[in-house]
Amino acid sequence: MRTILLQLSRNQWMKEHVPRWKFVRRAVRRFMPGETVEDALDAAEKFEREGIPAVFTRLGENVTEMEQAREVCDYYLDAVDKIAERGLNVEISVKLTQLGLDLSFDAALEYCREITCKAGNRLGNEFFIDMEGSAYLNRTLELYSRLKQEFDNTGLCIQAYSHRVNSDLDDLFDLNASLRLVKGAYKEPPGIAIQSKKKVDENFFALSQRTLRRTKEHGTRMIYATHDEKLIARIVDEAKQIGLPDEQLEFQMLYGIKTSLQRELVQKGYKVRVLIAYGESWYPWYMRRLAERPANVWFVLKNIIR
Ligand SMILES: Cc1cc2nc3c(=O)[nH]c(=O)nc-3n(C[C@H](O)[C@H](O)[C@H](O)COP(=O)(O)OP(=O)(O)OC[C@H]3O[C@@H](n4cnc5c(N)ncnc54)[C@H](O)[C@@H]3O)c2cc1C
Repeated sequence: MRTILLQLSRNQWMKEHVPRWKFVRRAVRRFMPGETVEDALDAAEKFEREGIPAVFTRLGENVTEMEQAREVCDYYLDAVDKIAERGLNVEISVKLTQLGLDLSFDAALEYCREITCKAGNRLGNEFFIDMEGSAYLNRTLELYSRLKQEFDNTGLCIQAYSHRVNSDLDDLFDLNASLRLVKGAYKEPPGIAIQSKKKVDENFFALSQRTLRRTKEHGTRMIYATHDEKLIARIVDEAKQIGLPDEQLEFQMLYGIKTSLQRELVQKGYKVRVLIAYGESWYPWYMRRLAERPANVWFVLKNIIR
């Protein structure tokens, strides 16, 4: 089921037609507050009142024309102003292919510079880069490294399923990178990524052990982005064992998933951010969410019946 859903996420016909189907649009609302930045801001305001600041990502990837990439950059620059006007604590996280990485490395880097600079000046926070499929890994690391040498306020996502994540981590530690650890959401071959879910979970935990020590010794910002309750409990235990202060342990989760766990962690004194994805181009992203938990497909089917 996971493989089929991930294959469908790249299907052009589905990409064009599915977003028009009403029952799917209704089901998508579970994972996103709406399609506009105002919808995201309203949702962020509610979460912030509960002590959960947000991360924004406007859905969309693999733009095919440079004008679209420029438009995405301008969109984020404007979003930073809107966040600042509302006085909200919201970070921005972006996919490089949305900023034109398929078309021009230099242009994508320049757009990242603009957003990082503005996020630093207007919001005083960090700009994050998502990690996409393995075809983009080298270019993403190269771009991030160049960006980080110019701006301190930028972070990167790394994927626990990748066979090379430990050696990439060595380089990222040298850069003093802020990092968000995830399991990994793309369909990758066995040579690139660990296939067994159990082994990915174990690698996530091993990486957590390594990175928690790094945070303890150097104050590096490390984010554990998972909804896996067992894994979170193990990370919390490990942090306690090494004597990491609670407020230095940060988790991130997606809007609409495990909201009560997010609240519980905040009440216990840990940092939590909710990633609010929104926008019109939600199809491939939504299919990856279904693939993570095929039981979600029943949720879509229930909407047909309704
Ligand atoms: C803040 C954040 C940023 C991310 N950024 C990236 C990125 O840049 N690149 C990338 O490859 N991946 C990214 N991901 C996705 C990540 O790789 C995983 O695919 C996703 O988080 C599901 O894995 P899990 O760690 O929650 O564990 P799982 O073992 O998949 O899930 C644990 C439990 O969480 C719940 N759950 C998980 N997913 C869902 C869902 N879709 N619907 C309902 N319940 C669910 C279920 O109860 C499940 O049993 C991001 C995830 C988060 C939270």
